[in-house]
Amino acid sequence: MSEINVLFDGYSIMSANEEEMTANCSCTLLKGSHNIIVDTMTAWDGEKIITALKEHDLNPEDIHYVVSTHGHSDHIGNNNLFLNAKHIVGFSISFRNKYYMHPFDKGEPYIINESVKVIPTPGHTLSDVTVLATSLQGEMVAMTGDLFEKFGDVENPKIWLEAGSEDPVKQLKNRLKVVEVADWIVPGHGSKFQVTPEIRQCLINQVGDSPT
Ligand SMILES: [Zn+2]
Repeated sequence: MSEINVLFDGYSIMSANEEEMTANCSCTLLKGSHNIIVDTMTAWDGEKIITALKEHDLNPEDIHYVVSTHGHSDHIGNNNLFLNAKHIVGFSISFRNKYYMHPFDKGEPYIINESVKVIPTPGHTLSDVTVLATSLQGEMVAMTGDLFEKFGDVENPKIWLEAGSEDPVKQLKNRLKVVEVADWIVPGHGSKFQVTPEIRQCLINQVGDSPT
């Protein structure tokens, strides 16, 4: 099991004239048999991340895995702080100049340890991944990146669609797949929220209504 600490809640705020968005991603630390950081914010946030890790008695070199849920700049900005870590960026897994083949494209999860795995959840980009981890309380927590933008996008799908979706049909199916197994969701740009039966039903209905 892992101690799951959301170091920073993500956010995204559109300007009134809709020409500019202020945004940063949720950044989560998992402490357990492996120390894992999920999504490393923008390139300007390095000092913030180092300070937050210190509060958990960790230095960047203590991190074993960095997972960027996808390759956008606000999710990879500080990957180079973590030079002892294996890097998973979307479907790509590497350490230094070595790249490891893994069939995420065939739906195969990547198992980090008995309580943490990385599953393919394309849609926002065609190579998005989600981290599923069992908490100390025995609950399943999903760090979804932008598969879920924020809590409000369950009722209002325009929010995740307008945040950019390279394959909305796939994204919708993967959103349902995640709520079927997760107790909690840490979305890409909002605070952690609990998955309720109402949320599951809402997504079942949306998948039912969608053209395939
Ligand atoms: Zn994002």
